[in-house]
Amino acid sequence: MRLNLFWKLGFAFFALLIAVLLPVDFYAERALRRDYERAGFEQLAAIARIALAYPPQPAALAPSHPQDSAGLRGWVAKMAASGVRVTVITSDGQVLADSQSDPQTMENHADRPEIRDALATGHGQSIRHSVTINSDLLYQAVRLSSAGASPVVLRFALPLQTVDQEIWEFRRRLWLASLVVLLVTGAASLLISWSFSDRVDRLTDFFHRVAEGDFRPLEADRAGDSLEALAISLNATAARLDRTIQTLTEERNLSSAILGSMVEGVAVVNASERLLFANRGFAEILGLDVPPQSGSALLEVVRQTELIEAVRGVLKGEPRVEAEIVTGTLRQHFFAVTVAAVSAAETSGAVIVLHDITELRKLERIRRDFVANVSHEFKTPLTAIQGFAETLLAGAIDDPQNRIRFLGIILEHSRRLARLTDDLLKLSKMDADKLELEIRRLSVSQFVESCIETTQRPAAGKDLRISVKLPERLPDIAADRRRLAEVLQNLLDNAMQYTPAGGQIMVSASANGAEMTFTVSDTGIGIPQADQPRIFERFYRVDVARSREVGGTGLGLSIAKHLVEAHGGRIWVHSEVGQGSQFYFTVPLFEPERTTLRPPR
Ligand code: ADP
Repeated sequence: MRLNLFWKLGFAFFALLIAVLLPVDFYAERALRRDYERAGFEQLAAIARIALAYPPQPAALAPSHPQDSAGLRGWVAKMAASGVRVTVITSDGQVLADSQSDPQTMENHADRPEIRDALATGHGQSIRHSVTINSDLLYQAVRLSSAGASPVVLRFALPLQTVDQEIWEFRRRLWLASLVVLLVTGAASLLISWSFSDRVDRLTDFFHRVAEGDFRPLEADRAGDSLEALAISLNATAARLDRTIQTLTEERNLSSAILGSMVEGVAVVNASERLLFANRGFAEILGLDVPPQSGSALLEVVRQTELIEAVRGVLKGEPRVEAEIVTGTLRQHFFAVTVAAVSAAETSGAVIVLHDITELRKLERIRRDFVANVSHEFKTPLTAIQGFAETLLAGAIDDPQNRIRFLGIILEHSRRLARLTDDLLKLSKMDADKLELEIRRLSVSQFVESCIETTQRPAAGKDLRISVKLPERLPDIAADRRRLAEVLQNLLDNAMQYTPAGGQIMVSASANGAEMTFTVSDTGIGIPQADQPRIFERFYRVDVARSREVGGTGLGLSIAKHLVEAHGGRIWVHSEVGQGSQFYFTVPLFEPERTTLRPPR
């Protein structure tokens, strides 16, 4: 590129110079030649005038003894001293004398144009090649008439060779001077074109840089011309482009970070049902190992017909379609699907948003079940109370034997109702986040011992052995003594209720990291694997009849779970049917700064 522009400009300059020089040379040569010829003729005319003023002796011109014309030769030699060729010719063309040749050897000159003209008019001129002396000459001829004799022609000639030489000399100088001018101006023009093409090249390089994303400004060359103005405006354009691209990149990064970190699944489909974009959430919800490639067909990625139908609805012109899909077989997840039309520039398509509503559906189910369960739980004792009260009113009150029994049953069922109401109240308090914990420093051994004390007697009554296994020097924990006692008591009650006589119950604790893990294990009936994840749900019982029989409400474990979690711990179970169960729960260790800061809940 550099050489191209440089040479192009250079050659253009040379061509221009040559184009000017050639016609100058041509016309100068012609003008000069004309000038020289005119001057030559003038010189010849002057000599001719002198010759006519001082003609040769008429005797010398007598044709009777032409060869004996020493006088004529002398005259010719004198005239020729001016540097011209002098020839004397008779009217019939015979050469009488010549300053440069022997007239004997010269041919008849009657046909020479200047001679003919001189004889006819008195004057003759011509420029032509001389056969006699073999060179180009300027001829000027005059007629010399003398009385009584036939006229003769005096001819004077100047060789053109000197003219040619002078013209050639002039042209040589012209060309030499032009060459010098050519070289000087050529060098200057090359320098200018070089610097010009260099600046154009720098602009081109700058364009390439910008095309590749490098927006550093071009150095100013301070030439003050339009190229500099161009460079300045290009710099401004590049800076603006840079800012725009940076803003766009930041916006794009922000949107992809937002879309990428969203738990909602988001995807965009074009009019031909091909995915243009899908975030990680979308792939995870649909169980895809990797986010689908842009351009893959929606049908290959998605199996849920409800979703495909919704997309098609929008692609057919609906502005927005809502649907619901279910994923997973064992653990089902519910997703609300919103498909909305998008049209950007000339393309149209649909944006899909998948929102997890599993928790909502679960809560709805729990609420439904809860209402049914509560009604059911209340119904049995109420029916019993109502039935026995009616029986008593109907006359059984007078039956001293049954009266006491019936009243006993009524009392048992009303206690059950009271327990249920109690548990429900606790739960509703916890749900409303109104449970206030009084977190204090608690010694594990003291806490466990006090709980066991109240359990020892009923356990002994059921032929169960309770043991405590605590390592020495356990760190203290941070807990609400009353609430945590409720948890441990509940687990101990369950262990006693679901362990046949002769069984063993053990309470142990161990510190690990920042928490204490309590374990209540029994050698009881155990819990089937499938029920284990659900026993912490409200009203969930493995064996409903048995639970009722032992006076359970089905709420104990869910209350325990709430209380443990309110302390910042976890609760879980390991169990095997027929072997026994181990319930675990954790409580944070006492740490002076953290514990005092912990607000009551
Ligand atoms: P309940 O009042 O019925 O005991 P919980 O919420 O305390 O209710 O327990 C839920 C269910 O978990 C019980 O009905 C029982 O089937 C089972 N369960 C709890 N503890 C034990 C245990 N130690 N051994 C066997 N099953 C248990």
